[in-house]
Amino acid sequence: MQERLIFTADHALFRDQVRKFVQKEITPHVDHWRRQGRVDREVFAKAGQQGFLLMWASEEYGGCALTDLRYEQILYEELIRHGDIGVFFTLHSRIVAPYLQRFGTEQQCQQYLPGCVRGETILAVAMTEPDAGSDLAGMRARVEDAGDHWLLNGSKIYISNGLNADLFVVAARTQPDQKYAIGLFLVEAQWPGIHRTPLEKMGLDAQDTVIVYFDNVRVPKTNTLGDPTKGFAYLAHGLAEERLLGACQSLAHAQVAFDLTLEYVKERTAFGKPIGTFQNSRFTLAELRCQLDCQQTWVDQLVLQMNAGQLSAEAAAGAKLLTSELEGRVMDECVQLHGSAGYMEEYRISRMYRDARISRIFAGTSEIMKEIIGRSLGLDDRKLK
Ligand SMILES: Cc1cc2nc3c(=O)[nH]c(=O)nc-3n(C[C@H](O)[C@H](O)[C@H](O)COP(=O)(O)OP(=O)(O)OC[C@H]3O[C@@H](n4cnc5c(N)ncnc54)[C@H](O)[C@@H]3O)c2cc1C
Repeated sequence: MQERLIFTADHALFRDQVRKFVQKEITPHVDHWRRQGRVDREVFAKAGQQGFLLMWASEEYGGCALTDLRYEQILYEELIRHGDIGVFFTLHSRIVAPYLQRFGTEQQCQQYLPGCVRGETILAVAMTEPDAGSDLAGMRARVEDAGDHWLLNGSKIYISNGLNADLFVVAARTQPDQKYAIGLFLVEAQWPGIHRTPLEKMGLDAQDTVIVYFDNVRVPKTNTLGDPTKGFAYLAHGLAEERLLGACQSLAHAQVAFDLTLEYVKERTAFGKPIGTFQNSRFTLAELRCQLDCQQTWVDQLVLQMNAGQLSAEAAAGAKLLTSELEGRVMDECVQLHGSAGYMEEYRISRMYRDARISRIFAGTSEIMKEIIGRSLGLDDRKLK
């Protein structure tokens, strides 16, 4: 792997600290968590004690005001290398919690953020519905004004951290006659009228992905995030960062698959020699190596751009598109190089292959990423007509 130039000595120390944490608190539990379909919620509290959650949060909420995305990138890389990709600390810390910081009131932040930093309040975001994913404007979940509270009805599907979550950020329609009037609401999982059912998936076995039903849930008006008609704009706000984080995750995952395959092809022999010495194996791995290095350099650069407040929506979409497609290619080639062993649950590569498939779908599909990039080129049919 090519040397990466974006990290300092502080980052190296942090990496070391995270690695030790993962090896102690996560590695030994991965098989069990994958079998039970969720991580033990205590692992969030343990990560919180180490200061690994909501690192960006200010000290008044218990955070360490560390906004540098490189720390989150390192967390991902170590978590995936030594633990499991289904531990969704980053969703909690950098995708959901920032909604509170950006659009929440001081009172809402005081009420919820300290528990999130400690890992005692686990977060999830509920946007997708059975009939509305890429096209969120088709959502049906709605709130009705009932005086000092809203009445929330509807369902949300494929919600990550869904069983462990204590608090959901829920998107719901606020004005039946206006397609784009969506609000975001802070909904506590323990409130009456909320039912969650785990979903059986192809991969990400340790991730508790659920369908959530909201049946006349009373949501206090004080739990509205910002303006209840501007939810779409709020959702769009964090998308570039979310997609860049997706790119960091895809690359971290692909790098691990590459490394363990390289090791495998050096050990496994056929026709009297290590399979890695066949020209096909060498060429395949050489090509993947170059593509991984190339994309890693680009993504590292985008992480610095994010830190400088200069990340564009199309660059983030491009990074998610290319890295998730590469991740898929790497997994496929690596299973092939393992032969039938690569098809066996016993070998990590078979699980990684299944885990990787979702990267091209969630947080916006590859096709939607291409739409975003295409529009940035001025190729928007709404404008061209
Ligand atoms: C494991 C997992 C975790 C998830 N976590 C969450 C979560 O925490 N919170 C949450 O709210 N959601 C979550 N999701 C949902 C996920 O983000 C959506 O399912 C995803 O955005 C795709 O939406 P869809 O399933 O409705 O697909 P559809 O929109 O039905 O897309 C189907 C196909 O049509 C294509 N398509 C759609 N529109 C266009 C277009 N305009 N141009 C070209 N092609 C198009 C798509 O690219 C895709 O190939 C998760 C999903 C999974 C599987």
